[in-house]
Amino acid sequence: MRAPRLPALLATGIVLLTFLHPARALASEPSPSASSASVPPPYVVAVDPGHGGSYAGDLSIPWDPGVVAGSVMEKDLTLDLGLRLRELLRTERVRVVMTRTSDRFMTIADRWAVVAASGARMFVSLHVNAFDGDSSINGLTVLYPRAESLPFARTIEGGLSHALAPYQIEDDGVALKPELWVHAQIPTVTVEPAYLTNPREAALLQRPEFRQAVVQGILDGMLAADPRIEQDRRALEQAEALAAQRALALRARTSPTPGFQVWWLYAGAAVVFFLLIRERAATRMASSRFRTRPSRRLMRRRRTLDRRRTLSRRI
Ligand SMILES: [Zn+2]
Repeated sequence: MRAPRLPALLATGIVLLTFLHPARALASEPSPSASSASVPPPYVVAVDPGHGGSYAGDLSIPWDPGVVAGSVMEKDLTLDLGLRLRELLRTERVRVVMTRTSDRFMTIADRWAVVAASGARMFVSLHVNAFDGDSSINGLTVLYPRAESLPFARTIEGGLSHALAPYQIEDDGVALKPELWVHAQIPTVTVEPAYLTNPREAALLQRPEFRQAVVQGILDGMLAADPRIEQDRRALEQAEALAAQRALALRARTSPTPGFQVWWLYAGAAVVFFLLIRERAATRMASSRFRTRPSRRLMRRRRTLDRRRTLSRRI
């Protein structure tokens, strides 16, 4: 049998010393089931920034700026309010379905299709108010399509009224408007936080901090309308904390302790040392066999020489 060569031995040693590493890395990966365990489904809210779309030079293409006061258009204010409300709701871990997130025209039917397919538990349509011919008309109002949405409208009105009190926005209360969103089976409101036709309120609507106060008031109303939003957020945070703990515990259990690693290192080194000793012994035996061959030849040569000497003596 041929003695193992040194490169083969070193390779064996390296394999012995490192074979544990990939196994350990695999074992310490947190399993997907641990992190997704008992996470509640997201609470869904639908948000509709009213109006939308710009004139593209073709009157046959529909567009709808809503109320226009100078260069200020309702469609831009409602989109800004919608995106701000989405940000706030996301901090509550709510999944927000928007009817639009850009300046585009949508029919009421288009919007309703989005809301109906969203699985939302509440729906807020965002607008700003207008009163042609009397710029002194002002205040906030919340519209609702049917009696079932009245409690929701009242809580949204309460949140808005409180949030906009520092801006001296009058609270005009809630009003039934049964021609819009009449098919809504979920709590539904149309929010009109201020009048774009009122100069003071138009100036306020152009201030980002006022628009932030509007969406904060709406969020406060939503949280008051359904405590499950905060319950779901807490449950989600608890489930995530638990999953993180499990992942940590799993990592601690599957990762060998430093002592264990050192033990494997010693075992690997011992195996390599043993194989090296065997290699040296085999090499020594082979070289000693090599040395006997010329001495045997030498012996034969000596014998031949002796015989020749004997023969020469006979002659
Ligand atoms: Zn409008």
